[in-house]
Amino acid sequence: MATYIVPDLLYDYGALEPHISGRIMELHHNKHHASYVKGANAALDRLAEARYGGQYDNIAGLERALSFNLSGHVLHSIFWKNMAPKAGGRPYGELASAIANDFGGFARLKKQINAVAASIMGSGWAALVWEPLGRKLLVTQIYDHQSNLAQAGTPLLVLDAWEHAFYLQYQNRKTEFFDAVWNLWDWEDVSARFELARATGAEDGVPGQSEDRKIAARRPYPQEDLDITQSTRRRPDGRRAPLAAAAPAEPRQPAAERKPLFS
Ligand code: MN
Repeated sequence: MATYIVPDLLYDYGALEPHISGRIMELHHNKHHASYVKGANAALDRLAEARYGGQYDNIAGLERALSFNLSGHVLHSIFWKNMAPKAGGRPYGELASAIANDFGGFARLKKQINAVAASIMGSGWAALVWEPLGRKLLVTQIYDHQSNLAQAGTPLLVLDAWEHAFYLQYQNRKTEFFDAVWNLWDWEDVSARFELARATGAEDGVPGQSEDRKIAARRPYPQEDLDITQSTRRRPDGRRAPLAAAAPAEPRQPAAERKPLFS
């Protein structure tokens, strides 16, 4: 029985045009993503065979296949939901505040993500992740699907920088694709992932961290952003949150006033 399945898209293949062509979406979802799902299930089967047969000669290859294919499945599943037709705009609420604190604003986050995507040597992803020990957002550069990770980070928004994600439409002009995808980001989805990631309390599972966590300084959020979070205002398409200009960044807390998490 298959453990992993390809999730249905919440929109038609052509719904992200003109930014991503329907043909790319069809191949990407129905062929590339599907192959990672197939590969992850096959790796699990072969690992089970190895265990029952007591044959571990190829265990490193099987573990690598599992890591590559399962990570590809996870990242693509997030990528599809990070995007929506007629989305884009700017992050809002607590996510916007955290971006202001950790990156100095939305424009700098966008530049960093696009620079990370454009500078990948080979295939990979740019990812906005929540890092629970430092309780901050990071942008990371992922090699292939599974390497160069900052451990403990939970991906919130991922940008596929593999050639299969853009080549049919953009050829070698990959930076045009990285710009275009910002017209598709669904900040409601990213915000929901941000809330969930912070609510899991993952840092409390690390020995010695929970006490530190209780005394660690909490980042202040501007009141107007909290007001937006609690707003019941709806856009014409029913989504919450206005496409308001980002709140001005709070001044960064001087490093000397922060309590160290490790000592
Ligand atoms: Mn891909």
